[in-house]
Amino acid sequence: MSERKSSLFEESLKPLKKAAAILKLEPDVVEVLSSHERALIVSIPVKMDNGKTEVFTGYRAQHNTARGPAKGGIRYHPGVSLDEVKSLSYWMSIKNAVVGIPYGGGKGGITCNPKELSVGELERLTRGYAAQIARFIGVDKDVPAPDVGTTAQIMGWIADEYYKIMGEYLPGVITSKSLSVGGSRGRDTATGRGAFFTTLEAVKVLNMPLKGARVSIQGFGNAAQPMAQYLHELGSRIIAVSDSTAGVYNLDGMNPTALIEYKNKTKSVKGFPGTKTITTTDPITLDCDILIPAALETQITDKNADKVKAKLVVEEANGPTTPEADKILHEKQVFVIPDVLANAGGVTVSYFEWVQNRMGYYWSDQEVDEKLKRVMTEAFRDVYKTYLQYKIDMRTAAYVTAVRKIVDAMRALGRI
Ligand code: NAD
Repeated sequence: MSERKSSLFEESLKPLKKAAAILKLEPDVVEVLSSHERALIVSIPVKMDNGKTEVFTGYRAQHNTARGPAKGGIRYHPGVSLDEVKSLSYWMSIKNAVVGIPYGGGKGGITCNPKELSVGELERLTRGYAAQIARFIGVDKDVPAPDVGTTAQIMGWIADEYYKIMGEYLPGVITSKSLSVGGSRGRDTATGRGAFFTTLEAVKVLNMPLKGARVSIQGFGNAAQPMAQYLHELGSRIIAVSDSTAGVYNLDGMNPTALIEYKNKTKSVKGFPGTKTITTTDPITLDCDILIPAALETQITDKNADKVKAKLVVEEANGPTTPEADKILHEKQVFVIPDVLANAGGVTVSYFEWVQNRMGYYWSDQEVDEKLKRVMTEAFRDVYKTYLQYKIDMRTAAYVTAVRKIVDAMRALGRI
């Protein structure tokens, strides 16, 4: 484990400790919340296309299951480590509690670069990982989903491997499956849609018109693309977008649908007609009204936070802002919709998928959208109420809201 990685989980506990102080929680309760129930490390030998066997390392961490089964994605990325999945699974406990869905927190991943693997290698790696974690997951135990670098196809392979091992068709074991095997309508766009619903609430309290608002986005994948489209539909201007290769800028605004088509074709946003090339990190500090970090963690730091010009930051990525940067943004009176609230739309529709799988009865697009809107709007209002009540920043308010619910559940079960 590298030095930076080993500090990520420690760093991620800071808002929890702030919330605990506000709630006057006892130190032993904080200790339980700062610990994982369990974490699994697995080795996955994979026969590569060149005939050689390569061993990959995978993880699955379950943070707290007092409110329900563990729930959270699986990440395929070279930076995946035990420390990262521990942070991500703990954030899932908080996130699921913020939006009030009946889950604890889980997260997993494999240290790999999926872009360098053939489809066959990716399938063998995924099936190997699924077999290794099969006894650790389950419909009422731990329910994975995709995250960075994983897709509905990968969820399908995991489900298939799990069904073979268990000898039963149990679609609720994993979410974000394809529609043909029990996926939910609206899942593809759920994170963006959820972020959009919280943004609608934020601009109301900030008294900030969305029409004409300048939007700057770092990262342009599953989470960011639909969000850009919804904002564009309401007349906001998408002035900057970056991905892992480069960024593009046009003060008049870009059409996100055309940009998605361009990126799908060329694999990069770079060179999109009518734009100036910028760096991958430029969107963070550009003059804009709404900043959307939607790539990876620790992008807004003490090095660049004072240069953030946005009035509103909508954290679609998990953990994009370091605690030091958070303090700077708060002092600058930048309103932040924290990750655990802003990007909870994805797990909320995953929850809807799990409910539909258990009922064997499926909802329409409209039903999913209405239910998602209700959950996200209520969650924003709950957190905002706590923000006003304690005069704290929105992240601490979200943690206070979540930690209160987790502690209530742990007390009800007699775990503390
Ligand atoms: P994705 O892989 O679809 O997209 C990530 C995007 O970020 C890509 O465009 C990639 O090129 C870009 N990127 C990577 N490194 C970058 C860098 N250094 N600078 C600029 N851009 C960079 O992943 P995603 O699903 O959109 O997830 C993005 C973030 O949102 C992650 O933090 C993830 O945990 C979080 N999130 C996603 C969902 C979801 O449903 N997709 C739900 C909750 C949270």
